[in-house]
Amino acid sequence: MTDIHDVIVLGAGMVGVSTALHARMRGLNVVLVDRRQPGEETSYGNSGVIDGGNLYPVAMPRDVPTLFQHALNRQTASHYHVGALPKVARWMFDYWRWSAPAKLEETARVMRPFFAQAVETHRELMAVAGAERYFRQTGWLELYRRPESLAAQDRRLALAREFGIDNVKLTHDETLELEPHLKGAFAGSIWCKGADTVSNPGGVTKAYAEAYVSRGGRFVIGDAMTLEKVAGGYRVQTADGPVTARQVVVALGIWSKALVAKFGYSVPLSAKRGYHRHYKPAGNAFLNRQVCDEDVGYVLCPMEQGIRLTTGVEIALPDAPATPVQVERAFAHAKDLFDLGEPVEAEPWMGRRPATPDSRPVVGPAPRHEGLWFAFGHGHWGFTLGPATGKALAIAMQGAPQPLDLSPYRIDRW
Ligand SMILES: Cc1cc2nc3c(=O)[nH]c(=O)nc-3n(C[C@H](O)[C@H](O)[C@H](O)COP(=O)(O)OP(=O)(O)OC[C@H]3O[C@@H](n4cnc5c(N)ncnc54)[C@H](O)[C@@H]3O)c2cc1C
Repeated sequence: MTDIHDVIVLGAGMVGVSTALHARMRGLNVVLVDRRQPGEETSYGNSGVIDGGNLYPVAMPRDVPTLFQHALNRQTASHYHVGALPKVARWMFDYWRWSAPAKLEETARVMRPFFAQAVETHRELMAVAGAERYFRQTGWLELYRRPESLAAQDRRLALAREFGIDNVKLTHDETLELEPHLKGAFAGSIWCKGADTVSNPGGVTKAYAEAYVSRGGRFVIGDAMTLEKVAGGYRVQTADGPVTARQVVVALGIWSKALVAKFGYSVPLSAKRGYHRHYKPAGNAFLNRQVCDEDVGYVLCPMEQGIRLTTGVEIALPDAPATPVQVERAFAHAKDLFDLGEPVEAEPWMGRRPATPDSRPVVGPAPRHEGLWFAFGHGHWGFTLGPATGKALAIAMQGAPQPLDLSPYRIDRW
């Protein structure tokens, strides 16, 4: 089949699926291409928080004692492969620079209009896809074991108030009113009331993909790395033969780096790998929402498959063998807070957050290739920002007035 489409979307994670669905809803003739079925990579295994109230990005520690602790490689929140360090040193240095307090504040302000659209744009696609059964409008909890950690959030809470974000500081006992099965000693929590959470991120991504197909969108298995520029557009090889379109969107998560390099664009994208494992809750224990153990660095997520324990960051090359040491370390701490039973799977799952050093995604047109668009690098928050990204790109591809200023997300900002 060699018919010409309006748009090829490469990558069927949350970002690509949302882009394809929005483009289709605007009447474009779209083909979505992935080497797997939709929502089976990073968008499958995350914590399922749609954090519309997000402010400061996940930062690298800057004080020497904490950096030293992480360097020992025994932390739960972080882990790294020594062999990867030479390849990621420049990225780590830039990430460290972008973790300075003034830079975090700058990022929070730049990213606010994007995050502010997150819940609304998800609810829009949720309704289109009939995916309501996955959604909980109960917010999520950041739990702090140490009083001083909770107190340190006051600056952020003040900024949140400035932006009208609904965050509430709760004592230990108030936290237990929301989550009666939490246990142990902790100081309190912040209830991020404005967030939505889901019980199956992969299921949500697949539901959006099914909505796209049921509206006449085409999904084909293919290899994005075969993309080439041809007269009048772009062509990619698929299981159905070559597919051609006037425009193409690169939404390949961490794998975007290799494809855009083929077109001469160098982008500082590194994998912040993360793991999850599901556990049966012991007895009748349950959670109503995702709970992040902030002082240790992992999240407990009530999912259809069980309680999903998701880990912090592992710095490693994207395809290096899995080293899920953080899962066992987090499990040892999680038992203080919640009664976890047997693991559901034999092995933990591994995913790759596609991370830029300035914690902003790359969204917008390619400066030197007409019809080539980028939508990747959403790091810790691609599940949250996928629908807002897809909407902004679909509008931009049609040249319509844009509610979101895309200039902070240009690929040539470095
Ligand atoms: C442990 C963990 C917890 C997280 N928690 C959250 C959270 O609570 N909230 C949140 O917002 N985000 C969270 N994230 C981050 C979020 O999951 C990612 O930012 C997001 O899934 C990225 O989506 P994506 O569509 O860009 O990439 P992906 O979901 O990785 O999709 C990329 C797609 O490209 C395809 N592909 C790759 N190469 C090729 C090729 N050559 N040809 C064809 N197809 C190809 C892949 O098969 C894949 O389907 C978490 C991540 C992790 C690891």
